Amino acid sequence: MKRVGRTRQEKDLLSKLSGMINYSEYIHANLVDVARTCGNKNCRCKIKGEKHISLYLTTTRKYGVRKMIYIPNKLEEEVRVMVARYFKIRDMIETVSDINLERALSKKK
Ligand SMILES: [Zn+2]
Repeated sequence: MKRVGRTRQEKDLLSKLSGMINYSEYIHANLVDVARTCGNKNCRCKIKGEKHISLYLTTTRKYGVRKMIYIPNKLEEEVRVMVARYFKIRDMIETVSDINLERALSKKK
């Protein structure tokens, strides 16, 4: 492959990006907080109307149709971090893509 003249900023971005892809986990999904009642007639959700908030992950990729998956409390932090990381990686890829497009178009001149 032909070497391309990359700027320092671009090299740093690619290095950070490959580190994130290789050494951390990420999930492509969206997270939604869902308010619900639990079914226990003595619970505050029934008595006071203070609903429970549960985290759900929605994804269409893995199953082909939109699926909502309950995320238990103990996994919440971990899953939030992985989903946020996916979007960070995607943003970085888009930035690299913009740079590549600019460079490709500059060859037209
Ligand atoms: Zn309840």
